[in-house]
Amino acid sequence: MRVLICGGAGYIGSNMTFLLTEKGCDPIVFDNFSKGHRTAVRRAELVEGDLADYDLLVNTLKDRNIEAVMHFAASIEVGESVRVPLEYYRNNFCNTRNLLQAMETAGIEKFVFSSTAAVYGRPAEIPITEECPKDPINPYGQSKWAVERMCHYQSRTGRLRYAALRYFNACGAGGNATLGEDHRPESHLIPLIIRAAMGRRDSISIFGTDYPTPDGTCIRDYIHIDDLCMAHLLALDKLDTSSELVYNLGNGSGYSVRQVIETVRKIAGKDFKVTEAERRAGDPPVLTSDAAKAKKELGWEPQKPELEEMVESAWKWHNDHPNGYPD
Ligand code: UDP
Repeated sequence: MRVLICGGAGYIGSNMTFLLTEKGCDPIVFDNFSKGHRTAVRRAELVEGDLADYDLLVNTLKDRNIEAVMHFAASIEVGESVRVPLEYYRNNFCNTRNLLQAMETAGIEKFVFSSTAAVYGRPAEIPITEECPKDPINPYGQSKWAVERMCHYQSRTGRLRYAALRYFNACGAGGNATLGEDHRPESHLIPLIIRAAMGRRDSISIFGTDYPTPDGTCIRDYIHIDDLCMAHLLALDKLDTSSELVYNLGNGSGYSVRQVIETVRKIAGKDFKVTEAERRAGDPPVLTSDAAKAKKELGWEPQKPELEEMVESAWKWHNDHPNGYPD
């Protein structure tokens, strides 16, 4: 199957491109390299371009005989989204609308969309099921939720078959620890702690130690990038017989910021300075998933549910790439 991977040079998109190649599919990367890395694309077919370029999208979809689209190209920082909301609506919503329009014109129906646990805002119940109220508390979550609604209505016309996959905290390095996380600037917890352990940062700051959790720090549900990508493959298959799929993707077990720090300490075998800082705006205290629906309907079973394994792969990748990707 020929699958267009929008954002295929990014962290999750490059891992997905790798997995599709392994499975004998034909991924074609579409990326503007605003954030992605050329090295991460490897030898996959590449179209360099922007999702705002409607003609390029239509031509790419038609000329390359694309059969399905996976969409990972988005702005992903909650704090930044609060500072520049219009930019998040432009990149995450308007560009996705453009992509769906191009798909409709080219007659392509299958679409797998990267959504997020941020659509739930501050959830009233933990663990979170797909039915929990959607009430995003920041522009990032809102922009993703708006896309989900757009997909819902478009699927009702019979011209779109889509899967919205709501990620919890994706982490680790995939492709046998060769495809890692390299955001610039980096804001994610695990890569930042690893850099502290490598001596490439002075310290790691804990954002908030007075949350209503056992150790006072935020609890998140971490999921290995390999398991996350496998769920995309299963969802893509299921679009043969379904027009609307919505799944949480997480392990269901929560780890606090302090627990993640301890895990990195153990795996790295190195000590580093930890400081306590103010809460970060927009952070709910606890986010853990109920992913029973994906397991039941997709037959998805995470193979690397232990935080140690996720951190080990990330630790290896960062040590193999102390300066990140070369480009
Ligand atoms: N966090 C932290 N220090 C950091 C970065 C993150 O304490 O330097 C916390 C953050 O407040 C959140 C958790 O770690 O509670 C996970 O944050 P991350 O940005 O990795 O993912 P998010 O949950 O925002 O998707």
